[in-house]
Amino acid sequence: MNLNYIKDRERMTEMKTADNGVAYLTFTPLNKLNCVKNAFSTRVGGVSEGIYSSLNLNFNQGDDPDKVEKNFRAMAEALGISAENMVMAHQTHTANVMKVGRENAGMGIIRERSYSDVDGIVTNEKGLCLVTSHADCIPLYFVDPVKGAIGLSHSGWKGTAGNIAKNTVDLMKKEFGTSPEDVIGVIGPGICGSCYEIGQDVADVFIEKYAGERQAQVVKPEKGKEGKYLLDLHAANCYNMLDAGLTRENIHVSDVCTMENSELLFSHRASKGKRGGLCAFLMIN
Ligand SMILES: [Zn+2]
Repeated sequence: MNLNYIKDRERMTEMKTADNGVAYLTFTPLNKLNCVKNAFSTRVGGVSEGIYSSLNLNFNQGDDPDKVEKNFRAMAEALGISAENMVMAHQTHTANVMKVGRENAGMGIIRERSYSDVDGIVTNEKGLCLVTSHADCIPLYFVDPVKGAIGLSHSGWKGTAGNIAKNTVDLMKKEFGTSPEDVIGVIGPGICGSCYEIGQDVADVFIEKYAGERQAQVVKPEKGKEGKYLLDLHAANCYNMLDAGLTRENIHVSDVCTMENSELLFSHRASKGKRGGLCAFLMIN
């Protein structure tokens, strides 16, 4: 597989294959900082079978949990870290963000979480790897290289409408003294603005939240389909990051589309829900 054939307008997404066969995506603007590990998993290099084939990183889709844990350990090995040092959000399509620390290490992966309804997590702990779960919804990566803090969020349509991007940056400000203009943001792979069809009810939410030129980019009536629209979560999250105080130069968009690349990436829509899950990873070195 070659990413040159995959849409990625900024040419900022690289695919790497580790010695253990796990393939993952990683983002140039974050790698250039030399202070974080960052990744987005693919389907390649795991032990799961069938609709979960093969690197399923979701415990809640009906796959054998032992296999999912093996997949997490393989992904951790590929990144040169351990599953014990990962901490996962508890995603329920909220816009809630929480600070996590060493006391949360392993939660959501090798032990129970002590929290619920958290779609974004932030930390300034070195060596603690933040993890969020995805299969079309957008991962948002935030790195403050000045204060040494990071954030990672899950932004589907509800999180986007609730501006989880701004909530993440606001919590980094409060907890770590982050100045938003120092933050490098990456809007990662997910369902793109040409694929994500929505109905009138969801469209109305975005029509209300985004005005003028922004609205024209974020939510477009679909030609020839009454009451159907196309929603561009990448564009909406770019505006959300601007509203959170990031500069445009510091916002990077990987528009690699999960739905258009469903052999490489799990897509909820492409599989009609019969799927495993991908994860985003972010850690301060
Ligand atoms: Zn697409």
